[in-house]
Amino acid sequence: MRTEYGYDVLIVGTGVAGLNCALHLPGSLKAVLLCKDTPDKSDSYLAQGGICRLQGKEDFGDYFNDTMRAGHGENNPEAVECMINHSEEITDELVALGADFARNPDGTLAVTREGGHSRNRICFHEDCTGKEITSTLLKRVEELKNVKILAKTTMLDIIEGEEGCAGAVVMDNASGEVYAVCADYTVLACGGIGGVFTHSTNFRLLTGDGIAVCINHGVAIDNINYVQIHPTTLYTENESGRSFLISESVRGEGAVLLDKHFKRFCDELQPRDVVTAAIYKKMEEDGTPYVWLDMRGIPAEEIRAHFPSIAEKCAEEGYDVFKECIPVVPAQHYFMGGIRSDLYGRTTMKRLYAVGETCCNGVHGANRLASNSLLESLLFSKRAAEDIAKGYERYPAQVSQKACGALDESKYADPDKLLQSYKQIVKNAIKEAERVKPHFGRT
Ligand SMILES: Cc1cc2nc3c(=O)[nH]c(=O)nc-3n(C[C@H](O)[C@H](O)[C@H](O)COP(=O)(O)OP(=O)(O)OC[C@H]3O[C@@H](n4cnc5c(N)ncnc54)[C@H](O)[C@@H]3O)c2cc1C
Repeated sequence: MRTEYGYDVLIVGTGVAGLNCALHLPGSLKAVLLCKDTPDKSDSYLAQGGICRLQGKEDFGDYFNDTMRAGHGENNPEAVECMINHSEEITDELVALGADFARNPDGTLAVTREGGHSRNRICFHEDCTGKEITSTLLKRVEELKNVKILAKTTMLDIIEGEEGCAGAVVMDNASGEVYAVCADYTVLACGGIGGVFTHSTNFRLLTGDGIAVCINHGVAIDNINYVQIHPTTLYTENESGRSFLISESVRGEGAVLLDKHFKRFCDELQPRDVVTAAIYKKMEEDGTPYVWLDMRGIPAEEIRAHFPSIAEKCAEEGYDVFKECIPVVPAQHYFMGGIRSDLYGRTTMKRLYAVGETCCNGVHGANRLASNSLLESLLFSKRAAEDIAKGYERYPAQVSQKACGALDESKYADPDKLLQSYKQIVKNAIKEAERVKPHFGRT
């Protein structure tokens, strides 16, 4: 197998976590980023609602309590505190990089609200905040001389040596060539696991490869069965692709949920798991495959300005949100569990970091509070980059050569089969974790 040397840091993933990690590495370090498809095919591009920002010191207690309450108190309080305390710094950095957020008439950042939040604290760009943030980060990363992006390149495995992770085995999707990429440090920023579920708002290519690889190498994973179901995705009879999300901020701005008799049946601004449970219960009682979402309480101007993509997608599916209700149904949306990582993204394997949705640093507990994910991914990927730079040590060349030389090539002879097996590893692990400690199984 061919081996590529010469990179200091290998980052798997080009969502906000991978990109922000690359941006915060010193220019003296040579980094390579991989993604399974093109860089715009990441969940980071899909984020609609926005990104949380602390609304002054007096908001700290409320923001902290909202996050802990949504997480059923299973969050790591230290991680939550760290995220909240850096939220202004992270959003200010995005603005400085060129991300455009909605503004109040006086020029300050406008903030909206979503389920589980006790007040408005979410910065947004129409209903495509993720695209605005991620495309801005991508532009900045592409300008960096020390960073290269390898699109359509799939990580098949990590390379484990005596000094910890020594890089990854990757595949060039176009040619099918499998080769080893050596690096002093490897960062897994591979996103969520929606691709292993039949109905999900995630890109289908996000199948938890990083999780499966870590399980195979004995790297600690936490709460793999902590999967969030989003209460409102557009119901469609054509279920083959990705479920289209109807952002929570639609409800934050006044949309209501209705049963088959067009009557309200829950408080729409409860955390996601509570609203999801209420919808499932109502669907069962009514014998329907969906409930209705009525956006007509939101002023038409507000819909046009804040939710243009949602209105357009609904129109494509034959629904006029200005005049009628739309059918919505819950779908898999987010993964709170993942590769165990500390507040610097460090995993239990030396030289291996995990950041973004693929990791579990305890911020979200048992259930994520809306719009905390982009923030968490951006902050802890930055901290990982800083940690790598601070404690930088070269991987002893002989040791990494030995690790590459010891790779069993036959393992990668059928990459598709290998990737399919990863999906099964993730599914089995979820099933086993659910048996031991069911998600929301607490009394
Ligand atoms: C529809 C939708 C709306 C959302 N709205 C919001 C919101 O409003 N606010 C909020 O805070 N969060 C929101 N989220 C969640 C948030 O977008 C994600 O949690 C976050 O963007 C994850 O970023 P990431 O960088 O960890 O992963 P991603 O952005 O998903 O990127 C994963 C990357 O890993 C790569 N990858 C995966 N496996 C491999 C492999 N084997 N080899 C090579 N590359 C690989 C992929 O190609 C991709 O580049 C939303 C999510 C969805 C799906």
